Amino acid sequence: MKIVIIGAGPAGITAAETLRQYDRQADIVMLSSEPFPPYAPPAMIEYFMTGRESHFWKGKDITDLLGLDYRSGIRVEALHPDQHAIRLDSGKTLVYDRLIIATGSSLHASIPGADLPGVYNFKSLSAAEELVQRVRQKEVEHAMIIGAGFIGVEIAILLRSLGVEVTQLEMADRVMPLMLDAETAQIVLDQMEGRGIDVRLNTEAKAVVGDKRAEAMEIEGGVTLSFDVLIAATGVRPNTQFAEGSGIEAGWGIGVDDHLQTTAPDIYAAGDAAETEDRITGEHYVHAIFPNAVAQGRVAAQNSLGLDIAYEGADSMNSLKHLGIPVMAAGRMEGEVLRVRSNGAFRKLFLVNDRIAGFRMAGDTSAAGVYRTLMNKKIKVTSFKHKLLSPGFGMGVIQSLALSPPFSL
Ligand SMILES: Cc1cc2nc3c(=O)[nH]c(=O)nc-3n(C[C@H](O)[C@H](O)[C@H](O)COP(=O)(O)OP(=O)(O)OC[C@H]3O[C@@H](n4cnc5c(N)ncnc54)[C@H](O)[C@@H]3O)c2cc1C
Repeated sequence: MKIVIIGAGPAGITAAETLRQYDRQADIVMLSSEPFPPYAPPAMIEYFMTGRESHFWKGKDITDLLGLDYRSGIRVEALHPDQHAIRLDSGKTLVYDRLIIATGSSLHASIPGADLPGVYNFKSLSAAEELVQRVRQKEVEHAMIIGAGFIGVEIAILLRSLGVEVTQLEMADRVMPLMLDAETAQIVLDQMEGRGIDVRLNTEAKAVVGDKRAEAMEIEGGVTLSFDVLIAATGVRPNTQFAEGSGIEAGWGIGVDDHLQTTAPDIYAAGDAAETEDRITGEHYVHAIFPNAVAQGRVAAQNSLGLDIAYEGADSMNSLKHLGIPVMAAGRMEGEVLRVRSNGAFRKLFLVNDRIAGFRMAGDTSAAGVYRTLMNKKIKVTSFKHKLLSPGFGMGVIQSLALSPPFSL
């Protein structure tokens, strides 16, 4: 059997590892548009900060170890499900018995001019390498970042740590507006400003100005701001252009069922490229985080081999690792609020019908695993609600939950 995986990010490489666990003989071809071994984008920040190549998280020789036919620097341009074939940028056609789409996403901004050369997509290692090299060669004094979502904030911290002046535009009244409540966002903002990052809230980027290259940013009132480099980070756009016109169902990302199968026979999708079901709300959307990509890569591979594995649903969760203090956000921000601030740490829980619907933490995230288990298992917290924010709240609770019956699931 010939299985083709498009993409060598966390979803693609996990799919390949899983396939090998079950089938040592399968002919597995893995394609990546990037000229690198498989890498994990989140670890690029640490790599550029420290020089440690932790982004090659599986080792640079992982594709050899797995016996893959790995072809890097090759872009898939079209998909023909009726012929079980894809077209590559070389013009060649590659046929498959099973196809796993793991093409991930690009950072973008939905404003005019954002596709001009000179606007960096920091999701791609090629683009990020070029940008950081320009910084190191002192060609970049001032970077502008459109958007202060969690990836934009991480990029701002990195560039500031490399000595760059950073201006970050955010149209909302707080940083990470989709993930953080106002109080936690203020803690993040204080840290960012403490590092000298110029965060401009309530500032909408209107258009990138430039003829052949990005030269300036227009904001409200026709004001233009200059920069040496511009990074688009208002959100992620799935890399699914190659599937347009193929007949497979796609919205913002590729549509999949609960087995991560697309609407075309023998084609599966995983990671940032796919629209998957939220494990709590049941909504389908692109859940662009690393743990989801890994879990989905595994399930897509299993089902492509004919196993019958239902995907348990995607997590909605983000964390900031390089801010100086740990920050974590998970789930929704609605319902009853419990909050505590002590010893420089802040915790806020959102409860709906006495079940944890979401939580936000800054300074101390040690209880995050317990809150997450309670949230994902939809456990009623009525009998120990008063203890949820106490300093010692932790794993003992999970153990007692496993043993004792009074908690209703
Ligand atoms: C700076 C940064 C920090 C992040 N921090 C975190 C974090 O702390 N925690 C977290 O959970 N998530 C984080 N993320 C998000 C995380 O990186 C993604 O969710 C994850 O990489 C998705 O994995 P993926 O395999 O679906 O796609 P990707 O990692 O995007 O990989 C896609 C692959 O597909 C290839 N490809 C794309 N199009 C084509 C094509 N047409 N033909 C051939 N190959 C193609 C690409 O070359 C690449 O190999 C961060 C992202 C960035 C950029």
